[in-house]
Amino acid sequence: MLVTEKAPAKLNLSLDTPMRYFDGSPRWDMVMTSADLADYVTVETHPRPATIKVYTDSGFLPNDQRNLAYQAAHILRSRFHRREGVTIRIKKNIPVAAGLGGGSSDAAAVLRALNRIWRLGLSKQELAKVALTIDSDVPYCVYSQLAHVTGHGEQIELLPAHPHYWVVIAKQQTSVSTPQILRQINYEQLDHLDNDRLIACLKDQDWQNAVKYMGNVLEPVTMRSHPEIRRLKDKMVSLGADVAQMSGTGPTVFAICHTESRARRIQNSIRGFCRDVHVVTLL
Ligand code: ATP
Repeated sequence: MLVTEKAPAKLNLSLDTPMRYFDGSPRWDMVMTSADLADYVTVETHPRPATIKVYTDSGFLPNDQRNLAYQAAHILRSRFHRREGVTIRIKKNIPVAAGLGGGSSDAAAVLRALNRIWRLGLSKQELAKVALTIDSDVPYCVYSQLAHVTGHGEQIELLPAHPHYWVVIAKQQTSVSTPQILRQINYEQLDHLDNDRLIACLKDQDWQNAVKYMGNVLEPVTMRSHPEIRRLKDKMVSLGADVAQMSGTGPTVFAICHTESRARRIQNSIRGFCRDVHVVTLL
């Protein structure tokens, strides 16, 4: 049987971390949503050969157990004592190592696909539990819809769907290492967000006020060594974005706009110095 799943990019409407756990990993407090910029993940099972194979159309990605999609298949297969082989084909559209959760979304897509193929009957909540053993963004990506995400990434409260908005997603050539940025966080210097207010606005469907409470406390950490990210963000704001901010640990910056024409204007103005630019809608 063959199943194709869409694996959308995630965006952090807010990203905060109140503390570190004893093991050094951050406790997250984030509002996440997904955009219509997606990879397509095709999963096929077969009796022989009983191996997991990953193929991608990207030259940069590992095809072995380092690929998060491979890990997702491996974990579900072991948990449910399945012996078949699994072949995964990924059509990559999400920029890699960009703060858009591409690997996590591919892994979540494999979990959803195998849940259907093997008729495991797992709820999204149960899949999210399995997902946490892969990476902290994978549980959210099982849902890929507006949510408040806390803890290690496993506590997910779904929020009412937002209105139709456009988003400009722009990644400069800069490379950012997520583990390195997380190590650089100085908890005494973080300027925390008011996520409660943001969530209250989202529950009231009050997007006009919600944008005031969006933010990413890791922007100063990443921007210290990558000032070009701040320049891109400032440019998007000056061009009329309702809000512009970094996603995850960067380097991608996204701008939310309530009209397509505004989003296209931003796209045209930044194209000269940033080639990887997408205009899509929020899901
Ligand atoms: P994170 O913040 O979790 O590091 P990200 O959103 O910035 O992730 P990804 O595109 O998920 O970026 O890539 C992060 C790393 O994961 C890369 O080093 C990449 O080689 C690895 N990776 C493993 N599997 C995948 C996959 N299927 N797609 C993209 N990257 C993958």
